[in-house]
Amino acid sequence: MHVTALSGGVGGARFLRGLTTYLARTPDLADTTVTIIGNTGDDITLFGLRVCPDLDTLLYTLGGGVHEGQGWGRAADTTAVQTELAALGVQPQWFGLGDRDLGTHIARSMWLGQGQSLSQVTARLATRWGLSERGVTLLPMTDTPVETHVVIDDGEGPRAVHFQEWWVRLRAAVPAQRFVVVGMERATAAPGVLDAIRRADVVLLPPSNPVVSVGIILGVPGVRDALRGTQAPVVGVSPLVAGRPVRGHADACLQAIGVETTSAAVAGLYADFLTGWLVDDRDADTQVPAGVTLRHRPLLMRDLDSAAEIAGEALRLGLDLRRR
Ligand code: GDP
Ligand code: CA
Repeated sequence: MHVTALSGGVGGARFLRGLTTYLARTPDLADTTVTIIGNTGDDITLFGLRVCPDLDTLLYTLGGGVHEGQGWGRAADTTAVQTELAALGVQPQWFGLGDRDLGTHIARSMWLGQGQSLSQVTARLATRWGLSERGVTLLPMTDTPVETHVVIDDGEGPRAVHFQEWWVRLRAAVPAQRFVVVGMERATAAPGVLDAIRRADVVLLPPSNPVVSVGIILGVPGVRDALRGTQAPVVGVSPLVAGRPVRGHADACLQAIGVETTSAAVAGLYADFLTGWLVDDRDADTQVPAGVTLRHRPLLMRDLDSAAEIAGEALRLGLDLRRR
């Protein structure tokens, strides 16, 4: 069996670690392979280094090296380099980069500079984290550099800032007027991305941000068509519980694109390809688009076991829809 998932950073990574845990614990599914298509719209160049926050969060989480409390960055990391950069007055200082984490960005930047594609670089990093031993392949959504920018107006007229500046420095407190994905007009899906969707037995949408994680991947040419055309059921997990994001600022992102912060409205964003939608018990009355099967259960990923149960339920919904 083959599962393909579209993922952002922390929410997606925790769900997908739950999925690999569920698969390893379930004897008749233990051979299942998982292809993850990761969002690269959050990517940013800092201090001359290419940083891919969502891909790194996936690598560290699935590889067992993530800082559990933060949900991103390396466990037990130190900040000697960042402290020295601050002493040198180098900007920006609002983006946290630990020393071990910087090793990833140095290696990635070096390999990209030698002419390797982001797919090739990501495969090398995945080897470091033992992803293939867990049955996981991690693909960037595209090898073309793309960056999500946010149009804001903080008093001096509209201007665009990098998504990370809006999210991390401004904490999404300044309303977003719209999102612009710089570079997407010349982007193509990375090798293997469209085939992974077309050839999957089940496609899963983890509870990633529907606008700036899943929504960005859906904008890569061919991805949406592949989802509409695949024979596989496409099952999504809502990132909202009782009308609120569990963490982060998905509400601010949804507001910017004129969509209500409800599990029903998020399902509506996927209406042209979604076949199953998993919501929290508190949202059991969610109205879903025609042709979508709704299920509900507790959706808080409190620990690895609860994440594994949620992922298992999403996968079982996909398998039930496949049999029909
Ligand atoms: P990011 O790139 O680090 O922002 O991570 P993602 O886009 O993959 O996931 C962010 C989304 O995950 C947010 O909108 C959260 O509401 C959602 N999320 C985080 N933890 C949970 C959880 O325990 N349950 C559910 N249902 N959603 C969650
Ligand atoms: Ca992200």
